[in-house]
Amino acid sequence: MYQKLFIPGPTHVRQKILDAQAEPMIGHRSKAYADLQAEVTPKLQKLLYTEQPVFLFTNSGTGVMEGSIRQAVRPGKKALVTVCGAFSDRWHKIAVANGVPADRVDVPWGQAITPALVMAALEQGDYDAVTVTYNETSTGVLNPLKEIAAAVREKYPDILILVDAVSAMAGAKVEFDAWDLDVVLSSSQKCFALPPGLAVAAVSERALKRAEAVPNRGYYFDFLNFLKYYKRNQTPATPAISLIRALNVQMDDILAEGLEARWARHQQMAELVHAWVRKYWDFFADPNYLSPTVTAVKNTRGISVVELNKALAERGAVISNGYGKLKEQSFRIAHMGDLTPDDIRWLLDQISDILGLA
Ligand SMILES: *Cc1c(COP(=O)(O)O)cnc(C)c1O
Repeated sequence: MYQKLFIPGPTHVRQKILDAQAEPMIGHRSKAYADLQAEVTPKLQKLLYTEQPVFLFTNSGTGVMEGSIRQAVRPGKKALVTVCGAFSDRWHKIAVANGVPADRVDVPWGQAITPALVMAALEQGDYDAVTVTYNETSTGVLNPLKEIAAAVREKYPDILILVDAVSAMAGAKVEFDAWDLDVVLSSSQKCFALPPGLAVAAVSERALKRAEAVPNRGYYFDFLNFLKYYKRNQTPATPAISLIRALNVQMDDILAEGLEARWARHQQMAELVHAWVRKYWDFFADPNYLSPTVTAVKNTRGISVVELNKALAERGAVISNGYGKLKEQSFRIAHMGDLTPDDIRWLLDQISDILGLA
């Protein structure tokens, strides 16, 4: 039986989007491909409220995390990595693996990174970049990105702000230009509600300028090379053409829904889950920073998450266990992408029914 995905990626993909991938193949150096990229790019710029370049990468989001951190830090400088869960910690692992010197500022899982914390850490000096995970998917925390960026910008005009928006982009507003960010990246399989395999990133003029001063930019993600090809509506290597077609169709639907309406729908789905959590459980995250796209529920009733998912599977749905060390201590319900408030109501009714909550 087919199960509808209420997990934080991959998310439910509509049949129309699956079908959009089934067109005959074209060459990636053909005019037809350049036309496709030229068509989809302005739609992504609208989504991100930006006039700066938005690149398409054929890989999952993690690849762009790696590519962006190594191109953001000049020799002799460091990155500051803010850590509040598993995905924000990944930035640090990536920095270490790439030989990029990085300091970290940690808060306990479930807490948010605040502007004050970031500013205090930046006092140590010698930073070229700071990483922020907008939506920490492992804990269900939406970090105050706009406020963090404003604080950093006011004092440090040259520090690059690298944002993992993998589980936020297309589900929550990110104003790339107005917030003055430098790299904001995402993957296709979360709020975009596409199959996995494609990543999208807005890259600022400032980040491109910085890349010029970094000798070891790497090869596959070299932003300067990307820019060169971007100018002729291409990518340096063969892109996932089928996925880009699906993205093009999906972007039309996203823009037709209306961006404000899309953010509001995500918020509405989140609030349905929040009300249910308040009634029967507790939040894993600080309730002041709840994510609009995924909720981590503290397993205060000591249920078996594995058994719950087995029962849900029979009814045609799947949710997520807690991330890593939180496997049985929490479970996560994603409310992102093309799910609807009715889907969420149905899911919550199923869980309540299975567990006998009343
Ligand atoms: C899913 C996720 C990632 C990993 O993305 P991939 O596309 O699997 O590489 C990174 N960060 C966050 C916040 C995520 O939710």
